[in-house]
Amino acid sequence: MANIELRSVRKSFGAFEVIKGVDMDIRSGEFMVFVGPSGCGKSTLLRLIAGLEDITSGQLLFDGERVNDCAPSRRGIAMVFQSYALYPHMDVFQNMAFGMKLSGAGREDIEKRVKKAAAMLQIEKLLDRLPRQLSGGQRQRVAIGRAIVRDPRVFLFDEPLSNLDAALRVSTRIEIARLHKEIGNATMVYVTHDQVEAMTLADRICVLRDGVVEQIGTPLELYNHPQSLFVAGFIGSPKMNFLTGRHSQPFGCATVGVRAEHIEITSEGVWSGRVIHSENLGSDTYVYLDIEAQEPVIVRQPGTVAFKPGEALRFSPMPREFHRFDAKGKPLPR
Ligand code: ATP
Repeated sequence: MANIELRSVRKSFGAFEVIKGVDMDIRSGEFMVFVGPSGCGKSTLLRLIAGLEDITSGQLLFDGERVNDCAPSRRGIAMVFQSYALYPHMDVFQNMAFGMKLSGAGREDIEKRVKKAAAMLQIEKLLDRLPRQLSGGQRQRVAIGRAIVRDPRVFLFDEPLSNLDAALRVSTRIEIARLHKEIGNATMVYVTHDQVEAMTLADRICVLRDGVVEQIGTPLELYNHPQSLFVAGFIGSPKMNFLTGRHSQPFGCATVGVRAEHIEITSEGVWSGRVIHSENLGSDTYVYLDIEAQEPVIVRQPGTVAFKPGEALRFSPMPREFHRFDAKGKPLPR
């Protein structure tokens, strides 16, 4: 499996620069997830690695070897898209075997590899079906199976689960995590909008913002030690609460950030607000508080709690469970 290096990689479409100098090392066997707001360049970066787009300037290296000008078919990659991209007139077996056939592999070898991948993904019973006879989740498993059969150096995933319903997303996500372990040290690069996918699948997450890398780290590094206000606000759902002005003054900083699960409702609280509404999820309740600022503060309370709209409450961050940021959005010591 390959390690991937990006050195000052830039990409422009005409006069429009989309990737603005990215440096990154993706280690052999690593599961790297790209996240960031819509349009920040996640898919473009993945397509540059795949060779589906030309790099405008900079270097892309696989195992130390420059691959900028290497055709996608010669990079040893397999890509799984959101839109499965299966051949509709071929059955599952033929779809999975197609790449190997093209590269001239023998029948026995093809059969062995397809069956092994099908077993891994529990789709052995579907091998003679056509794509239209499969559910969305099964189709996506076939698309993943087709990637496995090719035995690539690098797997590239572009939002592979976003067409699936909630339950299938969860089971296919778990499947992909299992696959990463089972295949051993496959290098995987994965683009998603989904916080849970990023947090659960990634060895490391790369947060992109407007064509540059904002921060790269393990999911917990990003969650607990964001290096900017932007990352603090981007990683985690619900979003971290940010309080400014008179609310952040007692903390001696421009902005204080505190997550919904790190707020205590207590009569001693430094802040006060009024309940706007509560969302009851069964396991937790999210309470939305109006603090006369731009956005309400969201507080998570375990279990089911009942607050009346309009009720006045005092609340505080739990000890040490807050983040302080300076006027430039950089973190200050807690
Ligand atoms: P999303 O999360 O919405 O899928 P993304 O982060 O994956 O977004 P990209 O698809 O990489 O973003 O697009 C980044 C920017 O580049 C966007 O502004 C997009 O319009 C632009 N872009 C992408 N492909 C092309 C192209 N072929 N020609 C011109 N502009 C493009």
